[in-house]
Amino acid sequence: MLKIKNLSVSVKQKKILKNVNLTINKGEIHVIMGPNGSGKSTLASIIAGKKDYKINKGKILFENKELNFLAPEERAHLGIFLSFQDPVEIPGISILNFIRISLNSIRKANCKKEIDSYQFLKKIRNVSDLLKIDKNFLSRDLNEGFSGGEKKRNEIFQMCMINPKLSILDEMDSGLDIDAMKTLSLGINKLKNKNNSILIITHYQRLLNYIIPDYVHVLDKGKIVKSGNKELALKIESKGYDWIKN
Ligand code: ADP
Ligand code: MG
Ligand code: MG
Repeated sequence: MLKIKNLSVSVKQKKILKNVNLTINKGEIHVIMGPNGSGKSTLASIIAGKKDYKINKGKILFENKELNFLAPEERAHLGIFLSFQDPVEIPGISILNFIRISLNSIRKANCKKEIDSYQFLKKIRNVSDLLKIDKNFLSRDLNEGFSGGEKKRNEIFQMCMINPKLSILDEMDSGLDIDAMKTLSLGINKLKNKNNSILIITHYQRLLNYIIPDYVHVLDKGKIVKSGNKELALKIESKGYDWIKN
């Protein structure tokens, strides 16, 4: 699904990622952990193609297609979804309209006709039931006046509706209470299948009580310094990052 080869990235002349290699296959969940400022969000941003992030060296391949020079929306059309740490507010556009527009734009880019209204409503009902989202919430303007928890719930709702090939969740679990985190995990586990992949960036091991990753990687000063499985996350929880750095 995703192959990152010898990737070095800078932001405003500052070198952030250094020679990162990462392969995510179909059906896998990967977790990236690491201290603050280690480059986790930079990694998410460069995959999604956000501006200000520049590749100095290396390649990002998505289903064997090079992403390096594609615009963010072209990457979204290919099936990449990034949930932002701090999503934007869009007054005047409801959540539902926004999702309908996004879905149809992806369908159009892939030569599919617009989603049928009946199918769309059915899908909304299924996903909002699953995520315990109130129907009234869905007609509110996008992110306007949303609490932290509501923003995150909306992101996961969008993700489940769009059903991307690769979902990248950047600190989606930060600031969530335990119930919201369980709901979030439920959504992720439900979304997961053998044909898609999920990259979760998190500070906390606690999310991994509900989602079992195939791989855990530790990013430190822009380098992947250790990879392992769920056990690695548990070890970080009890011992911190210093033992890896040393
Ligand atoms: P993390 O998500 O692991 O906390 P980031 O990727 O956000 O780390 O940041 C890595 C480093 O890059 C930090 O030192 C941060 O200050 C710097 N950085 C990130 N984005 C920008 C930006 N837009 N302008 C300047 N520096 C940035
Ligand atoms: Mg940070
Ligand atoms: Mg970050």
